[in-house]
Amino acid sequence: MDMNGKKAYILGMGKTGHSLLRTALRLGAHCRVADTRLLQDAADLRRRYPAVDFHFGDMPEDLFLEADILLLSPGLAPSLPALVSARRAGIEILGDIELFGRITRAPIVAITGSNGKSTVTTLVGEMARAAGLRAAVGGNLGTPALDLLPETGPEPDLYVLELSSFQLAACHDFHPRAAAILNLSPDHLDWHGDYAAYAAAKTRIFRAMGAGDTLVLNAGDTFTAALPPQVPAGVRVQFFGGADEHDASIAGDRLCLRSDGPLLDLDQLPLRGAHNAENALAAALLARAMAVPVTAIRQALRTFPGLPHRLARIAEINGVSYYDDSKGTNLGATLKAMSGLPGPLVMILGGDAKGADLSPLREACRGQRGVVVLGKDGPQISALLAGILPVESARNMAQAVEKAAVLAQRGDQVLLSPACASTDMFTDYQDRGRQFAVAVRALTEDLA
Ligand code: ADP
Repeated sequence: MDMNGKKAYILGMGKTGHSLLRTALRLGAHCRVADTRLLQDAADLRRRYPAVDFHFGDMPEDLFLEADILLLSPGLAPSLPALVSARRAGIEILGDIELFGRITRAPIVAITGSNGKSTVTTLVGEMARAAGLRAAVGGNLGTPALDLLPETGPEPDLYVLELSSFQLAACHDFHPRAAAILNLSPDHLDWHGDYAAYAAAKTRIFRAMGAGDTLVLNAGDTFTAALPPQVPAGVRVQFFGGADEHDASIAGDRLCLRSDGPLLDLDQLPLRGAHNAENALAAALLARAMAVPVTAIRQALRTFPGLPHRLARIAEINGVSYYDDSKGTNLGATLKAMSGLPGPLVMILGGDAKGADLSPLREACRGQRGVVVLGKDGPQISALLAGILPVESARNMAQAVEKAAVLAQRGDQVLLSPACASTDMFTDYQDRGRQFAVAVRALTEDLA
């Protein structure tokens, strides 16, 4: 990939925008950066990159047309009018994943879906490492893909990338050797416009795949189960799911691979919940596609404790367990988290629902102990659940936890799995989860 002397404009200066800028500079481009936000580190950026022209607080769209190439951060929709006119004018528009795919020579495992991406991505990385492979893990999770590329020296044996629908929407020729679409449930509809557009973005993961590549799909998900007719010829499609006619399945209380037989007893899997058993199956198929031996897969599954903020047990106080599932940022995730615990539950719900219809929560909350709502869409959720179970509202996380503790009875679980994004009240989902844990610990101190 050569950008020598080319005018590259980087749109958006978040974590991925930084990786785009560093890469474009390394490839010899003249760079200009635009971000509609007035970033706190603007002065620092100008000092660090004196040759770069920064525009903060606006998107100088007329300047886009002067560029040779536009490099797009994942938050920006390729359908923005200014980008549509740039494309019409023949200007190349690349997202970070497309650019990454053009630079690397090493094989890529790519994972997308509405939920479970980070868990599966991390598991595949652990499986590859258990087999002694040098695996670089990142993308939408942790380190941006472009920052995984070594500045000098050899590339890793493989890359394992979590990809969001935003990143995939800007992919054209991106070609993973193995990929998975884990499931699909409504999310980010405010950004994509509608469910069909969100779904279409996810399918871009396999557009450029071909003979010898493996695509892993969920047999139990209506959307992914119907995908095979759209998959390019020659791609090996493998299914994971409950029934034992699939390539990876749960037979009795065991995880099994059709190619290799029994993998692990479910009670040896530290990850909780049926959704995590599915994540384990998907990860195992991806790892097998990259020739990772079953022994290494088994070892990784036995030892991986799960990621923070995904159904993580924080404490037990007065016979009530407190779980942090702050990463439950959409309805599908929250429903799975709820079904992963025995109950009765006191739910902490709310935040920014991103335009989703949360009405299935009515059924899921029936018979539970109570709900505490917070955030922008708290009132909407409260109205939805009124009359089904006790609903309280809270101004902040500390108050939400206090109210949840009052509602809960011995043997119950308090579950923070908000079905909403966090950014209306918190920096991000990690911040929300940390504030939850702090508030839970404060309960213990109150009791002491
Ligand atoms: P993602 O990276 O796609 O957001 P994570 O692995 O971080 O996925 O999990 C996020 C949340 O989604 C978890 O807290 C859990 O509630 C839920 N979840 C995890 N795996 C699945 C799955 N396979 N199906 C549905 N929900 C899931």
